[in-house]
Amino acid sequence: MANLYSVLSKRFLEQPGHIALDTGDQCWTYQQLHTLTGQIASWLAAMGLPRGSRLAAQVEKSPEALALYLATLRAGLTYVPLNTAYRPAEIEYFLENSAPAVFVCDPASFAALDPLARNKGVFQVVTLDAAGAGSLMDESGKHSADFVDVATEDSDLAAILYTSGTTGRSKGAMLSHRNLIANAETLNVYWGWTSDDVLLHMLPIFHIHGLFVACHGALLAGARMVWLPKLDVDQALQWLPECTLMMGVPTYYVRLLADRRFNESIIPKMRLFVSGSAPLLLETFESFQRQTGHTILERYGMSETGMLTSNPYLSAEGDRIGGTVGKALPGVQVRVVGDDGQVCGVHAVGHIQVTGPNVFAGYWQMPDKTREEFTVDGWFRTGDMGRWGGETSEGQPIPDDYLSIVGRSKDLIISGGYNVYPKEIELVIDAMQGVLESAVIGVPHPDFGEAVMAVVVAREGHELDDVAMIADLKTRLANYKIPKRICQVPELPRNAMGKVQKNILRERFATAS
Ligand code: ATP
Ligand code: MG
Repeated sequence: MANLYSVLSKRFLEQPGHIALDTGDQCWTYQQLHTLTGQIASWLAAMGLPRGSRLAAQVEKSPEALALYLATLRAGLTYVPLNTAYRPAEIEYFLENSAPAVFVCDPASFAALDPLARNKGVFQVVTLDAAGAGSLMDESGKHSADFVDVATEDSDLAAILYTSGTTGRSKGAMLSHRNLIANAETLNVYWGWTSDDVLLHMLPIFHIHGLFVACHGALLAGARMVWLPKLDVDQALQWLPECTLMMGVPTYYVRLLADRRFNESIIPKMRLFVSGSAPLLLETFESFQRQTGHTILERYGMSETGMLTSNPYLSAEGDRIGGTVGKALPGVQVRVVGDDGQVCGVHAVGHIQVTGPNVFAGYWQMPDKTREEFTVDGWFRTGDMGRWGGETSEGQPIPDDYLSIVGRSKDLIISGGYNVYPKEIELVIDAMQGVLESAVIGVPHPDFGEAVMAVVVAREGHELDDVAMIADLKTRLANYKIPKRICQVPELPRNAMGKVQKNILRERFATAS
């Protein structure tokens, strides 16, 4: 099996003069990117590390940071990207857990992290800053750009990707070259990538969405990426007119919509907006259609598996239906299973399990957790709950091969013996006058085991009346689903990927029933 880099570079090496990355200040051709990956890979190879040794990196987004990832693949080492928000105490855990041979960090954190890394047995610590400068570049600059990609075996690890830590401590998902190639090739065809595409890339590159889904898509097609450090609405508006594709987490779309300048006239070349990593509110999906004439394509996936389902790209394959995550991608198998382990019929809510060439090999250094999360017949338990088909909130039927996510199994509330799916209640609350968003959680209750509780955020300039809201909910939902209490907060706790951290809310409100 080929090295992932050999697959990704096949097409772009045929057009070396094509722009790979445009930061606004600098344009990088594919040839320049390839040259730098060759130099870094030669530097890594000169260390004589055994194949599969880890390179961990906590670096800001830059063209050089992308080259570092690609060089690690070329050298047959395993890339371990770390969230730039992590503080030294957190980095210590990830260094201990992943035991890298090489660690790359920002020069500003070198003094704090170098001793930590050395203490954990890291062999080389080098630096790279947001402008692409640092000892990594000084060292690799001494090496030749000629490098032959290391041949990899099917099971060789391309990356260990730590999950976002939304439900607990992050776990390292072991992803092979084969896993990543399979998903990249599927999405390349399914979303219709071509070398004429221009992707607006504003996502972080320590996470699956920005690093794999977005970059692999563009690289495999030999397309251009507008390479911005983060979402900045003014900058996005400036670049959008020349872009054909954008990928974002739901909050990106909310922020763009809030700006009047964002409308159909500034996106003449756009062919596709993709959303994922967290649920896209129906309201966002619908306002986006109204304001731009485009229908956001929502897809579903996770660090452990890459992308699993997607709303159709081509209208011949079906409509994009808001509130759903679409159909299983080609080559991916998805099933919905009840608590009894039996596959559910359509419309019934159950646990989402998956299998396919994209599904990871297990959690790094966590054999017990790995065993727990795979069924005896080898399917991965995603930890998400969902249903096939059903109805939209407006009562329109949803085709049976479309999946809807109803929430995470860890967020399921069992109150007085009834299963309560928070999403169902959140949808009703979110549609109420004056509500911006909500999170429904279970809190310990002496009689019911768990009681339903809603945490809500008001729209600016609106007052919320919890007693009136509860009375209203009683007219729409069964009694056991009615929150015992509604608490108002200024904002919901979110992690770096914009995901609501319900475990924090549960801790905070555990004793407040
Ligand atoms: P952890 O596993 O550490 O608790 P995490 O699951 O948030 O964190 P990721 O792998 O980054 O870590 O995220 C995958 C999860 O994101 C999925 O399991 C799912 O819950 C959620 N997700 C992704 N896309 C969507 C979507 N379109 N709609 C709803 N949820 C989504
Ligand atoms: Mg997860």
